Amino acid sequence: MHLANFINGEFVSPRSGAYFDDINPATAEGIAAIPDSDERDVDDAVRAARAAFPSWSRTTAAERSNLLLKLADLIEQNLDDLARTESIDNGKTISLAKRLDIPRAVANFRFFATAILHQSSDAHFMDVAALNYTLRQPLGVVGLISPWNLPLYLLSWKIAPAIAAGNTCVAKPSELTPLTANRLAELSIEADIPPGVINIVHGYGNKAGRALTCHDDVAAISFTGGTVTGAAVAANAAPRFKKMSLELGGKNPNLIFADADLDDAIATSIRSSFWNQGEICLCGSRIFVERSIHDEFVSRFAAAAKSLRIGDPLDASTDVGALISEGHLQKVMGYTDLATKEGGTIVAGGHRLDRPGYFVEPTIITGLTCECRVLQEEIFGPVVTVTPFDSEDEALAFANSTRYGLSATIWTRDISRAHRVAANLDAGTIWINCWLLRDLRVPFGGMKESGVGREGGFESLNFFTEAKNVCVKI
Ligand code: NAD
Repeated sequence: MHLANFINGEFVSPRSGAYFDDINPATAEGIAAIPDSDERDVDDAVRAARAAFPSWSRTTAAERSNLLLKLADLIEQNLDDLARTESIDNGKTISLAKRLDIPRAVANFRFFATAILHQSSDAHFMDVAALNYTLRQPLGVVGLISPWNLPLYLLSWKIAPAIAAGNTCVAKPSELTPLTANRLAELSIEADIPPGVINIVHGYGNKAGRALTCHDDVAAISFTGGTVTGAAVAANAAPRFKKMSLELGGKNPNLIFADADLDDAIATSIRSSFWNQGEICLCGSRIFVERSIHDEFVSRFAAAAKSLRIGDPLDASTDVGALISEGHLQKVMGYTDLATKEGGTIVAGGHRLDRPGYFVEPTIITGLTCECRVLQEEIFGPVVTVTPFDSEDEALAFANSTRYGLSATIWTRDISRAHRVAANLDAGTIWINCWLLRDLRVPFGGMKESGVGREGGFESLNFFTEAKNVCVKI
């Protein structure tokens, strides 16, 4: 299958005529040819988006809402097919795609379709002299760049608020997982979204992605991906004064105090460590356990990790699928080697499966301290460390010892400690006695090198609008 770019409501070949392979991570076999788009394709897409902007931005919120709801319904009706496509393209288990990725893509479109009906803006009376009010207007053409780990979910998290707010967009999905973005383009035609409102350009980040961040007619860039790439995106977009939202990497701590409900903490830590093969930015890759329960935790956690079923992602009973690529697998295995060199002990996993595809066992490492590279650098795979701590202060110091600050989890039955620790953690999202519960109204984003700006709820709608102050003399 040859994929095409989606520009002005039509599927078109890349200007270069060049393609590269899309690989199924579970078999290492090619499944599609992806357009190797360049700045000419991006420019075509931006022109289409510019042409569509005047009429789309003048539609009523109710009209846009109805179209987004229609698209949400279509995604839901195609859930099985989309989940299968996502699984084949990404290596993730079909059960997770059915449970998480696709339902959340539906929820994103429904959320922003209805949020736009309730957006309000402020008015301020200045003594008795004047009235100020804030006009919120769409920006124009916006650029949306997304990663491969939750392909449709993260793309919809950007497209939905952007177009709900009246913008038109050019999206650049990850070159590793283009298939569900392609299906979304097809469904947007069925949903009667007008041509040019959603444009999708496939291709490499340093070519098509870079062209989008450098295009003068793109008013804003919403980017989700790695921290190093985020810096490159910012370096191109900032001198052009584009609005920017950067959602970046993480190295999230999972703090388990001795008074925690250990059954729940272990069961949830298995998910927060190994769901999606550890390829979720919010996975808790550094586990810190109070010393008095450390050994019990390690033995029960390791036994649970060893019992996970790893294999064919399309088998509904599989728990752990394939990593995204051979290159990523090599990076992850490099960290398991490094862990041993740094003095760590691998108490579960640590091996690649001897079969085609990119499978790595759920891996648990003990005996490393916070200065080790394995505890400092984002691995983004099924590899976690477990380290004991002796006090609340030490737990906090360990948790805050990286340059990242995306999310954190706290396990304790002491409600005062839970709030105290939460307030002192460097993290944009903190879960207490749970993980990955998401209310789409809350601000989402990272501290430190995990990102700039917040998405979610009205924050996303505000990001995709210009706030103008109108001052009227009374
Ligand atoms: P990546 O940074 O390699 O790529 C992300 C996207 O950026 C891709 O579409 C890629 O083609 C594009 N890109 C690459 N170079 C570019 C450039 N120079 N200019 C413009 N675009 C460019 O990230 P990835 O490997 O696809 O995803 C994994 C990373 O994403 C991890 O670090 C993970 O933590 C992070 N992530 C963060 C969040 C969050 O919400 N904070 C969510 C998911 C993933």
